[in-house]
Amino acid sequence: MVDTRRATVLGSGEHRVSTVEHLLSALFGCGVTNALIEVDGPEIPAADGSAREFVAAIDAAGVAEQPLPQPRNVVREPHVFRDGDKLLAIVPAPAFRVRMTIDFPPPVGSQYVDYDSRSAEYRTAVAPNRTFGFRHEVEALLARGLAMGGSLDNAIVFDADGPMSPLRAADEPGRHKVLDLIGDFALLGAYPQCEVIAIKSGHALHFEAVRSLVDRASVAVSAG
Ligand SMILES: [Zn+2]
Repeated sequence: MVDTRRATVLGSGEHRVSTVEHLLSALFGCGVTNALIEVDGPEIPAADGSAREFVAAIDAAGVAEQPLPQPRNVVREPHVFRDGDKLLAIVPAPAFRVRMTIDFPPPVGSQYVDYDSRSAEYRTAVAPNRTFGFRHEVEALLARGLAMGGSLDNAIVFDADGPMSPLRAADEPGRHKVLDLIGDFALLGAYPQCEVIAIKSGHALHFEAVRSLVDRASVAVSAG
């Protein structure tokens, strides 16, 4: 991981691939821990702004069971990370769970999404939910000559009245933030056995938490 300001960029030597977070989220959500992905270009395609097409591709390729235990990062005590009014708490739990609170100006507003990996199906509860933005942001980008690549095709855009195209879920923005968080925690390289309580958090705070979990070296190999 070499840059995390807006999207997640993975790098090795002089090579860079950006916008990997939705693909990593799809892999994690589908239980894939080992995959060869060939990329010909500087970034992963945005597709429709969600993880749905990646999940479809994973399901089309199929998943093979391998006889190797999946490493687990077992969180044994609470950790809290803060940045202004953004907060991320990681607490011990029997399985990976995300409780996400977002708080944006209207019409998005506050949303709370509880994703428990034991009971919720990633493919339907998380994967279809798209990136979102605000019309004034899109117009500012366009004014600076930075198009979002057909923004209404790969993001939900909100104007003052609401979404400019139909939502896939009433709380689609909150669910997309769960999708993003899962993609960031996939960089742990091990199953995060913990509950993540996220309030207005974003990539930067997620990476701080993931780095801390790696540094604590509490990774245990188990057959789970
Ligand atoms: Zn995203």
